[in-house]
Amino acid sequence: MAVSDHVDFNQFMEGVKRRNSHQPEFVQAVQEVAEDIFDFIQDKEAYHEAQILRRIAEPDRVVSFRVCWEDDNGNIRVQRGWRVQNNNAIGPYKGGIRFHPSVTESVLKFLAFEQTFKNALTGLPMGGGKGGSNFNPKGKSVREIMRFCQSFMTELYRHIGADVDVPAGDIGVGGREIGYMFGQYKRITNQFTGVLTGKGLEWGGSLIRTEATGYGAVYFLANMLATKGQDLTGKTAVISGSGNVATHAAEKIVQLGGKVLTLSDSGGFIHDPDGIDQEKIDWVKTHKTHRRGRIEDYVNEFKGASFHAGKTPWGVKCDVAMPCATQNELLGEDAKTLVANGCIAVSEGANMPTDLAGVHVFKDARILFAPGKASNAGGVAVSGLEMSQNSERRAWKEEELQQMLKDIMSGIHATCQRYGDQGGGYIDYVKGANIGGFKKVADAMLAFGVV
Ligand code: NDP
Repeated sequence: MAVSDHVDFNQFMEGVKRRNSHQPEFVQAVQEVAEDIFDFIQDKEAYHEAQILRRIAEPDRVVSFRVCWEDDNGNIRVQRGWRVQNNNAIGPYKGGIRFHPSVTESVLKFLAFEQTFKNALTGLPMGGGKGGSNFNPKGKSVREIMRFCQSFMTELYRHIGADVDVPAGDIGVGGREIGYMFGQYKRITNQFTGVLTGKGLEWGGSLIRTEATGYGAVYFLANMLATKGQDLTGKTAVISGSGNVATHAAEKIVQLGGKVLTLSDSGGFIHDPDGIDQEKIDWVKTHKTHRRGRIEDYVNEFKGASFHAGKTPWGVKCDVAMPCATQNELLGEDAKTLVANGCIAVSEGANMPTDLAGVHVFKDARILFAPGKASNAGGVAVSGLEMSQNSERRAWKEEELQQMLKDIMSGIHATCQRYGDQGGGYIDYVKGANIGGFKKVADAMLAFGVV
C-alpha cells in the first residue's frame, strides 16, 4: 500500500467507534494513543502494511463468564466476570483484576490496551491483559468475599497460567483476595506456580510489591522535576484516592521532603493544611483497608482538617498533583484550575484519571505531565520481578528490589524523554510513553508475521 493510500486518523477512529459503539472508555484510550502514533508511523511503511495499530486495538480475546455465589443469607447471587487478553507479543498477558460495580467490558478493554504499552515500557517481558467483575466488595463479609473469589477462579483458572496470563490485584482486589484466588487455583490444578502476583510474602510474593505503584509514581515525578533542576523538598502535593496507590504515593512524597495536603475516596476529599504525615498516613491505611472505613472520619481524628463531601481535591492550591483513585476523575476544568493555581507537575498514579480535555490542557500549558502508563508502571514492574523470583524459586532482598524499581522508573523516564522531546526544554511525556511502548510491541509483532 502506498503511503498516500493509508487511512487517516479520522477514518481510523471512525472504525474504532463503529466496532466498539458502546465502549466509550475503550474508544477514549485508543484515541489518546492513536493521536501520537499516527504522527510517528506516518513514514514507516512496515507498520502500515502490517496494520499494527489496528491489530493492537483489537484484543486477542475477551473471555466473559458468569460468576455465581451464595451470600450469608443463603441467596444465590450472579455477577459477570471477564478476562481481556489484549496482546502477548512480548510476554505472557499481565494485568490486574478489578472488583467494582463500575466494571464493564469497555473499562477492562481500555485497561488491557493501556497495560500493553505500560508493560512494554518497563523493559520486562510482559504482554497486556486485565480482568475483573462488577462484584461490589463493599459491605460484604470476609466469607462472602472468599466465596466470590473462589467462584471467580473456578472459571478463570482455565484461561491463565505462569507462561500464559498472570493476573494481579487492582481496585477492590488486594492481598487477601489474591490469597483466596490463589488458594482456589492451587486446589483445582494441584500446581504451585507463579500464576498470580501480589501474593503474600510467605507464599511466593515479592517485597515492595505493595508499595511499588505509589513509590514508583513519585520516583517518576522526581525524575520529571529533576529535568527542571528541582526536587520535592518543600513542595505541596494534592493527592486523590486513599487506597494502595494513594497512601504509598503520599508516604514517598513525605519521605522526600514534600507536604501532602489532601486524600479522598468516593465520598469526597479531606484537606489537612498541616500536612498528612507518616502517622496520619498509617491511620488512613488501617482505617481504609482493615476497617473498611470512610476518609471523612479523618477529620474526627486529626484537628485542623476539613472534609468536602462529593468533591475532588483539584481546587486546592499545590505545586504537584497526583490523581490516584480511578479513571476520568480529573476533568478539563480541574486541569485548568490546577494550572491557574500554579501546579507545575502532575504524575498519574491511577489509570487514565485525566480525561482527554484535561490532557490537552496540561499539554497546552506545557507543564510536566506524566500519563499513568508511564508513571504508575512501578507496580507491574515489581510484579514482573515477582514472576522472575517465582521462576527462580528465590526471594530477592528489599534493597535490591528498591534499586531495581528506581532504575526501571528512570528507564521509563528516559524512554519518554527520547520519544517525547519537543525541543525548547519541553517533553511531551504522553507522546513519549505512547511511542516508546508502541514501538517495542510493534517490532515484536512484525517479527511474527500476520498472526
Ligand atoms: P484501591 O482499591 O486500593 O483504592 C482505590 C481508591 O480510589 C479508594 O480510595 C476509592 O475510594 C477511590 N475510588 C474508587 N473509585 C472511585 C470513584 N469512582 N470516585 C472517587 N474515588 C474512587 O485501588 P488502588 O489504589 O490499587 O488503585 C487506584 C488506581 O491505580 C486505579 O486506577 C488502578 O487501576 C491504578 N493502579 C493500581 C495499581 C496497583 O498496584 N494497585 C497498579 C497500577 C495502577 P472508595 O474506598 O470510596 O471506593
